[in-house]
Amino acid sequence: MPDTHASMHAAPAAYAASHDFAVKMMEMLVVPTFVLDAHGKIMIWNRACEQLTGVPAAEVLGGDQHWRCFYAQQRPTLADLLLADLLPTGRGTPHTLPGQRPCRSSTGENLCAENWCDMPRTGRRRYLAVDASPIYGKHGEIIAVVETLRDITDEKRAQAALERLAMHDGLTGLANRRCFDDTLQAEWQRAQRQQLPLSLLMVDVDNFKQYNDNHGHMKGDDCLRKVAGAVASEMRSNDLVARYGGEEFAVILPNQSLKGAAIVAERIRHRVERLQLPSEHAGQLCVTVSIGAATALPGPGTEPAQLIHTADSALYRAKHLGRNRISVPEVASC
Ligand code: GH3
Ligand code: MG
Ligand code: MG
Repeated sequence: MPDTHASMHAAPAAYAASHDFAVKMMEMLVVPTFVLDAHGKIMIWNRACEQLTGVPAAEVLGGDQHWRCFYAQQRPTLADLLLADLLPTGRGTPHTLPGQRPCRSSTGENLCAENWCDMPRTGRRRYLAVDASPIYGKHGEIIAVVETLRDITDEKRAQAALERLAMHDGLTGLANRRCFDDTLQAEWQRAQRQQLPLSLLMVDVDNFKQYNDNHGHMKGDDCLRKVAGAVASEMRSNDLVARYGGEEFAVILPNQSLKGAAIVAERIRHRVERLQLPSEHAGQLCVTVSIGAATALPGPGTEPAQLIHTADSALYRAKHLGRNRISVPEVASC
């Protein structure tokens, strides 16, 4: 191991041999690791750490600028936080890192955290699982802190992809039925707490069976994607549009009155009509949707299922009245 990879300046002579061995062993670790001495200066910066950060050991050894290897702006690393926490005099108050919530390990000695990190030197974005552990001297005094950084970017991305699959519809990219159910339940409770109205739209493509029969299933899929895009384009950021099933979409509109919901519904109906997706069915020239709207002021003992039922009944009425129209409940609750 070249001398540049370790600084011996803090080690007493009696420990030189074992220190040398420990440093060599650290160098061989495939886990990126660095060690701070009790003054917060870098003692060891192993090769895996060089690879991860793109910063050679020679640049950081003996200094306290190691934060530059991880952050564009000055922030303490987990090792700095632990050191500040453990030193009796205190080198400063530990701060909470933005976007990073350090937690104590089960032994209470270590700090651990997970976070996205944009490596300034390599320009790469990595998701790191970081642990910082104290090293004590013979008399129980803190002599160093070791930080290990595990790059778990691939696992994080795979997990995010799985979560996305679990909550999204593969054909349209919209939220799926499970996500709709969870969101409606959550919004129902929120509306109840805040005493706000909650609206729901059920949007159904008209005569879609015939569309499939005329154009084939693949074209039918294309049509569903376009209709989904049109519905989604009318949403505010707090609204949720989901594929409820088949050729039916559901739209959750938090804090929206029935009057407001009817306006959104009419915008969606018009937007789909303007797509001008050709359709030949009983004089109908383009693909259209029918929409049922409903609003509730959730209270104790009420259920979101009631809102779905009311919106479904309104949709049924819109179909019955000739399709390509919106319908609201005859007796509105709000
Ligand atoms: P209405 O105006 O009363 O809603 O008539 P409709 O023909 O749209 O309703 P119906 O329930 O009779 O038929 C729905 C059709 O939607 C039948 C089904 O094959 C089609 N469908 C459901 N999911 C998909 C899908 O993912 N892709 C395609 N291409 N078609 C689908
Ligand atoms: Mg239909
Ligand atoms: Mg349907």
